[in-house]
Amino acid sequence: MGEVFDVAVIGAGMAGIIAARDLSEKGYKVVLLEARGRLGGRTYMDHACGGILELGGGYVHWTQPHVWSELQRHGISLDPPMEEGKNYWLADGAVHTGSSDKFYATAMPLLERLFSDSRARFPMPFIPTAIDNTEIEKESIEDRINSLNISSYERDVLEGALSGVVHSYKDHGIAQLLHAVATYFGNFAAFFETAGTWSIQGGTKGLIHAIMAESTAKLLLSTPVTSITDEGSRVIVGTQDGQQIHARKTIVALPLNTIGDVQITPMLPVMARSMIAEMNPTMAGKLWIRVRGEIEPFSIYAPAGKYPLNAARTEKYFDGDTLVLCMCSDDASIRGQDRLGVQAALRKFIPNIEVVDIAYHSWVGDEYSKGGWMMNRPGFFTTGAVELRRPHGNIHFAGSDVSASEPGSIEGALSSGAQAARDVSIKLTKQKLQS
Ligand SMILES: Cc1cc2nc3c(=O)[nH]c(=O)nc-3n(C[C@H](O)[C@H](O)[C@H](O)COP(=O)(O)OP(=O)(O)OC[C@H]3O[C@@H](n4cnc5c(N)ncnc54)[C@H](O)[C@@H]3O)c2cc1C
Repeated sequence: MGEVFDVAVIGAGMAGIIAARDLSEKGYKVVLLEARGRLGGRTYMDHACGGILELGGGYVHWTQPHVWSELQRHGISLDPPMEEGKNYWLADGAVHTGSSDKFYATAMPLLERLFSDSRARFPMPFIPTAIDNTEIEKESIEDRINSLNISSYERDVLEGALSGVVHSYKDHGIAQLLHAVATYFGNFAAFFETAGTWSIQGGTKGLIHAIMAESTAKLLLSTPVTSITDEGSRVIVGTQDGQQIHARKTIVALPLNTIGDVQITPMLPVMARSMIAEMNPTMAGKLWIRVRGEIEPFSIYAPAGKYPLNAARTEKYFDGDTLVLCMCSDDASIRGQDRLGVQAALRKFIPNIEVVDIAYHSWVGDEYSKGGWMMNRPGFFTTGAVELRRPHGNIHFAGSDVSASEPGSIEGALSSGAQAARDVSIKLTKQKLQS
């Protein structure tokens, strides 16, 4: 038999690299296996629109404990957002314009009603299961909006305000969002600021390099994993190129939507399998748009599913032009090369805007993510995710998609990777003491 690792970490997104770093720092012999030829998973900086842009996750906040501790550890700061400009919102089929205060004068009372029970439902956000939320778990975001009995104008405003994070009101459960808002003191605006405002100075790539520089884990890139077999005394990880890697424990830090591509033996419990089979429903994307000239800042809100571009915002001036970031609820409606189509969609709000370039990475079409950021379906946040977080013999799961804190975010990935590393380390120490 060849080399035996203490831990095999599968997937080198934010969760996997933190788990591998923390364990290797403790002296464990770790191997980190990654399918792609690069690190970072759903955080990904690449050449786009003439610069280097975040094509995946990028926004973080100083209120996020794991993010902030990593940034401080490596001496990395945050870039402030661009000043807020004019607001445009699509409601009742018409474009409305005004200040941010005017938009939120309608949106905020609706958001407060939508999330009024967030702290009651999740009184201790660090334990999402602190109270029984079976009833709430049945509710989709659509059910919750229907229960408010609001006008069609108000509904479009509310859905537009949510469209930076929610992309299918019927497929997403209300529970995860209630939990997110509860994490930020029951205040949607505070949660929303953390989710999409401040970016990492130097970008996610710099943070990833800093973390990896501290790791002594053996890194195997371009090594898709196809099977994981727990034999009791060890785990055998099979790869697409025929390798069999032996380890005492494994941490599976894969996107939920690709776990099903890996043969796991023995079978996981029913609830965990059901969550894997039902998948993360987020089939949305992030589009960068370079528009001619340094234009007046703006924000656009359009309800998901009712328009191809949803939450859009001027992000920064770049080389005499302006970069606009846009969340699009339906990956299929975005044509990565359709500059004129994107221009026509923007012109509904800003008639003379001129699009010079666009950039889009289809996370839905990408075989190693098969979807966007995590938004749990109704019924899974306090059940399937909890089941997946439990150790299954020598197999542990990590990743933003199964995280107990801030799922769907970089913070969720970091906290869950760190937690899995702690759990595995405790077990390995106990085993050592017993032997
Ligand atoms: C468009 C977009 C915008 C986002 N915006 C934000 C944001 O602004 N702020 C924020 O906090 N979050 C944001 N997110 C979410 C955030 O990026 C993710 O939640 C987080 O990066 C996920 O990290 P992870 O390590 O859990 O998973 P991933 O980053 O997906 O890492 C999993 C790794 O597993 C690898 N893998 C897959 N299959 C296999 C296999 N069979 N064998 C081996 N390796 C495999 C993948 O290649 C990947 O590297 C965004 C996500 C997207 C897609």
